Amino acid sequence: MHTVASDGTGTHDEVASAAARAGLDFIVYTDHNIWVDGIKGWYRDPATGRDLLRLMGQEINDQALEPELNHMLCHFVSRDLNGIASDPQRLIDDVMQSGGLTFLAHPLERPGLRAASQTYPWITWDIDGYTGIELWNAMTDVKWRLRTLWFRAVLGAYIPNWVLSAPFPEVLAKWDELLATGRQVVAIGGSDAHAMSFSLGPFTRMVYSYEFLFRAVNTHIFISEPLASDIDAARRQIYNALSAGHCFIGNSQAISPRGFEFFGTSGAQKAIMGDGLTLDGAVELCVASPHPAHLRLIKDGRCIAEEFGRELQWHSQEPGVYRVEAYRRYWGEVRGWVFTNPIYVR
Ligand SMILES: [Zn+2]
Repeated sequence: MHTVASDGTGTHDEVASAAARAGLDFIVYTDHNIWVDGIKGWYRDPATGRDLLRLMGQEINDQALEPELNHMLCHFVSRDLNGIASDPQRLIDDVMQSGGLTFLAHPLERPGLRAASQTYPWITWDIDGYTGIELWNAMTDVKWRLRTLWFRAVLGAYIPNWVLSAPFPEVLAKWDELLATGRQVVAIGGSDAHAMSFSLGPFTRMVYSYEFLFRAVNTHIFISEPLASDIDAARRQIYNALSAGHCFIGNSQAISPRGFEFFGTSGAQKAIMGDGLTLDGAVELCVASPHPAHLRLIKDGRCIAEEFGRELQWHSQEPGVYRVEAYRRYWGEVRGWVFTNPIYVR
């Protein structure tokens, strides 16, 4: 998410208040190529009285490149990293060694309309050691969906709920390709909120507000205790969950996926999203959804089981990377709802 410190339109406090109104527990600011000191910590929204934890990150890219490709989300950084932006591997190594996390932002994009026709994909793939990728970037999705003049753009401006769809299939395929190399690649979802206004002829409208986007694509984490009141302890809880892939991407526009579960057992071992399981006879994989959905179990990039409902169970004796996608119909279309991190069966 972006504030007035880079190309967003909200101050840090305005963004935090919008997140509190949307019911979020924590946010990570990721302004472009600037690191802002003194913001992190608990924030109480004056209007709702809700508390939320603010963490600091940065979205870094090499500004000397034209176009400016290779955007990297660096979470939990404690200093400005612009000096090493031109070397993605050095950036990854530096952030990871200093206790941060690195996610390749919007790794594949599709062109939008006019000013949004420029795409900013990740192109330098001979890298290693990063935490993961941003599987679903809400603004990338929006840009593509509003790509044709008038009909889509006007509809999208007045019915923003109609717009968000799902991660692009090519991004899901890229993730599966990376997972097939045997490494752990954590997927997160991002709102990429800027709260910019869109102009179309005589009309100017600010549609994708911070609050609207914060009620849409988010990363849900699993932690075993409520967030600590101590900032460093809470930060560690979030860091541990994200770095282990104990998280899923959910779109809350129509209904919140809070409570969605994907877990596995093999012998005495138990695993949640992001964990590994060693085959001990067979492995049992279970999906439990808080609401009925089209549940798809994916193994090594291929759907091996599906169910319409709240539960899916599967027994397997095969190693592989197992993950779950869930879809629901709303605003006249089947849309992505939940994308879990994998359980790695070895
Ligand atoms: Zn970006």
